[in-house]
Amino acid sequence: MFDKFEKIENVNLKDYCTFKIGGNGKVIVFPRNVYELKKICKECEENNLQFFILGNGSNVLFPDYYFDKVILSLKKFDNIKIIRKNVVFVGAGVKLFVLNKFLLENSLQGLEFSFGIPASVGGFVCMNGGAFGDEVANHILRVKVLRDNKIIWLKRKEIDFSYRNSNIDDIILGVEFKLKSEDKKLIAEKQQQYLLKRKETQPYDKFSAGSVFKRQNNLIPAKVIDTFGLKGVKIGDAEISRKHAGFIVNNGNAKAMDVLALIKYIKLKTGINFEEEIIILK
Ligand SMILES: Cc1cc2nc3c(=O)[nH]c(=O)nc-3n(C[C@H](O)[C@H](O)[C@H](O)COP(=O)(O)OP(=O)(O)OC[C@H]3O[C@@H](n4cnc5c(N)ncnc54)[C@H](O)[C@@H]3O)c2cc1C
Repeated sequence: MFDKFEKIENVNLKDYCTFKIGGNGKVIVFPRNVYELKKICKECEENNLQFFILGNGSNVLFPDYYFDKVILSLKKFDNIKIIRKNVVFVGAGVKLFVLNKFLLENSLQGLEFSFGIPASVGGFVCMNGGAFGDEVANHILRVKVLRDNKIIWLKRKEIDFSYRNSNIDDIILGVEFKLKSEDKKLIAEKQQQYLLKRKETQPYDKFSAGSVFKRQNNLIPAKVIDTFGLKGVKIGDAEISRKHAGFIVNNGNAKAMDVLALIKYIKLKTGINFEEEIIILK
């Protein structure tokens, strides 16, 4: 299966997510272009195989058991191109670190808030990632997707973006961003400020998948969890971060079932059925 494409079979899923948790997976395939991607989708359809699109794995919890869906990685969709003044096309596989470096070099401002988030552009747009009062939807002109094996462009206003969510149900191939010209020095300063803030407030040096729960109206999960004194609670090697109660960290050998048990524990103790922000894969 997928003989003509770059792939890894019987893949150790720990290596493909920032949580460093997971059992083995059937296969991960790395199409190099849309032509290959279409062929892979067709092969999945013909063989009745479900697939999951993986970005940089910074918002997912893989199961401890065998994951039998085909994993599609778009990491080779890594081109960045200035289309016209202040408009940049970015492939879905580009990491935010790389994008921010490019924007700095080209004096383009707008996405500094994302500096330090270990995501790919595809995942970040799919999740409508955000921080420090901004979100990626605010900077998008249009999104290039593969739908029913056809390439289409979705204008910003055709997409329903909400808090840490979008209604994009297609494979994101790339995104056009509208940015602003700015002095390099100011962009660099902003990027560093945001990065520093992250390092000060989040368990940046530990394995995690970011905030476990979404905010609900005015309810900030981290604050509630902290108020209930749950920081530092551990199940197995999974721990509610002492630095940021909204994060669960893997101290080394955590299992998905430890994280899931902690999630249950938090809901039980706080009495709030928080909605998960992380994607729990089955
Ligand atoms: C230390 C740390 C800090 C974080 N800080 C923040 C933060 O400040 N703000 C924030 O919003 N998030 C934050 N996160 C969470 C995470 O980075 C975001 O949710 C990010 O958007 C996930 O991107 P990803 O590429 O890793 O996607 P993945 O985790 O790989 O996937 C996430 C979802 O996107 C889908 N997806 C990925 N690529 C595509 C594609 N090409 N087409 C269609 N669907 C796709 C996947 O199927 C999945 O449903 C943090 C995570 C960590 C570990």
